[in-house]
Amino acid sequence: MMEIEKDMDAQGTHILAKQKTKEREIVLDYDYEKCAGCSICVDLCPKKALQEGPLQEIAKGLDAPAVLIDLDACAFCGMCVNFCPTKAFKMTVRERKPSLETAESAGATEAQA
Ligand code: SF4
Ligand code: SF4
Repeated sequence: MMEIEKDMDAQGTHILAKQKTKEREIVLDYDYEKCAGCSICVDLCPKKALQEGPLQEIAKGLDAPAVLIDLDACAFCGMCVNFCPTKAFKMTVRERKPSLETAESAGATEAQA
């Protein structure tokens, strides 16, 4: 079974949700400073991983995210990234290099033979 690690981090106004497997690392970056609180992403998330934050308090000046992410529920599908009208969500995918390791160990086996 494929091992999946998830974790969440905050950097300034950015909430970073991360998913790591042996093959790749995906980062879903939500910058709440850019968020207009329209809730489009909350309605469209297929995993119901997003919910509204304290919108009334934010309207009165509270510095908090308008959208809360449930890391366990998120499937890193990218729909929130594609549909957010203010580009508050971004996703980056970084491939890790299993093929290189495989090639190296294949080479080592050959050298020993
Ligand atoms: S769709 Fe974008 S602007 Fe609207 S609530 Fe979600 S993150 Fe904020
Ligand atoms: S990446 Fe997909 S599953 Fe995760 S919060 Fe966005 S829409 Fe929902």
